[in-house]
Amino acid sequence: MNGADLQAFIENMPVAAAMFDCDMKYVAMSPRWRVDYERAGDPRENRHCEILPEIPQRWREARSRVLGGETVISPADRFERADGSIQWVRWEFMPWRAASGEICGVVILAEDVTGRELADAALRDEAVEMDRQRDQIEWLYENAPIGLCHLDRDLRYLCVNRWLAEINGLPIEAHIGRRVREVAPALAPGIEESARKILSTGEALRDIEFRGRAPRPPGVARYFSLSLHPAFDSEGQIIGFNVVVHEVTEKKRIHALCETDRRKDEFLATLAHELRNPLAPIKNAVHVLRLLEDDDSATKEKRRAALERAGRQVDHMARLVDDLLEITRISHGKVELRKARTDLAAILTQAIDLSQPQIQAGSHRLAVDLSAEPLQIDGDPVRLAQVFTNLINNAARYTDAGGRIEIAAAREGEEAVVTVRDNGIGIPRQQLSSIFEMFAQVEPTCRRAPGGIGVGLALARSVVQLHGGRIEARSEGLGRGSEFIVRLPLAAHVETPAMAS
Ligand code: ADP
Repeated sequence: MNGADLQAFIENMPVAAAMFDCDMKYVAMSPRWRVDYERAGDPRENRHCEILPEIPQRWREARSRVLGGETVISPADRFERADGSIQWVRWEFMPWRAASGEICGVVILAEDVTGRELADAALRDEAVEMDRQRDQIEWLYENAPIGLCHLDRDLRYLCVNRWLAEINGLPIEAHIGRRVREVAPALAPGIEESARKILSTGEALRDIEFRGRAPRPPGVARYFSLSLHPAFDSEGQIIGFNVVVHEVTEKKRIHALCETDRRKDEFLATLAHELRNPLAPIKNAVHVLRLLEDDDSATKEKRRAALERAGRQVDHMARLVDDLLEITRISHGKVELRKARTDLAAILTQAIDLSQPQIQAGSHRLAVDLSAEPLQIDGDPVRLAQVFTNLINNAARYTDAGGRIEIAAAREGEEAVVTVRDNGIGIPRQQLSSIFEMFAQVEPTCRRAPGGIGVGLALARSVVQLHGGRIEARSEGLGRGSEFIVRLPLAAHVETPAMAS
């Protein structure tokens, strides 16, 4: 390369270059250096290197290291040009040597890295923004007033948020790596089954409701709704589950209140109807009696029949009102049981007697199987007889004419178990527990037997519970008959003191 070529090469280099002697006086500079750092004229006129006055210390250090034989590369500097534009410059300082190898000065190469630097800055900003967004999402995940967790395919917790950890009663760390079965055993069967379904269908399962207890407040039943969503890897394989849990206790409570309110409305309508119905025959009977009053020829028999009709209706109304008063007293805790040790068979016999009119009205066959062994209980015989009368009357009323009613009593462990079974219209499965609620009647109302106001079973349940017992209903469904089972604790035996062993 001749001198002219070298000059051309230097002039066209994209890097600005300058050469200084050991005192940092200019020896030579490339045209680009001249433009970028505004050094016009002969470089030798610029006696001292005055560029970058803001970082003289760095220059001084670089110079002494370079004169010691090192090459120094500085990180990119932000450099403001005279026209106000910003340039990022990467400096490289290196010694220049004479042919003898002696260091005669410093060469500085200034590379404009503005483009790269701006791209890096944009990337850095993007990373900062992503960090900020991630922090925000983490904060939300952590503090959301709903439960969130991520499970692997084996239902091990990979992460869980604070809300859910509190519900599970364990710190967050105690969840990680453990299975749902270990952390929340009560929920495990439901979640495992849902996970199996999701693994086979790939579809999320939403709004699975469950009842649970959280450590705080202790002992209070709470209701939750749970949704499980599959999490996929890049190949579309399910690698785990995202779980969202939220509490629906309040929603349930409001729903229950609305339901009670609806039932109350229905009840008032039924009650009005039931109280009005007997009034017509009573009015009629009174009318007949009035007519007979002045009629000397009226037979005793006619008067007696009219009085009987009126009496029957008055009894029915009185029973309805009694039931109502009784349930109100019970729900206000104002009932005192008149307990006595009684054989359950006697109570059942009395109840069957009281139900005879209903059984006969339906021409039902009755089968009674009372335990040979006496079933002694400490209870209020009048109220218990009322419970069984209610059950037997219902069996008679909700069974088509000519049905079969079976009553059985037996001992099971420390309990007496009474069963009243019929082959009547049955009860839909989903209503088996709600029929014990106050004013509950199985829909549609057209199946209602006359004379009922939906209080009998609520009353029966309250009385049985007051005796420390339980009542439940079973039915295979509509048209398949019903069975009511009452369990009462047997009277405590007088125990012989245990022999010292
Ligand atoms: P009601 O006065 O309406 O009979 P209950 O509280 O005694 O009120 O019963 C509540 C509801 O339960 C009834 O309306 C009826 O729909 C249903 N039920 C009760 N016993 C039977 C039964 N043996 N068979 C079918 N349904 C029954």
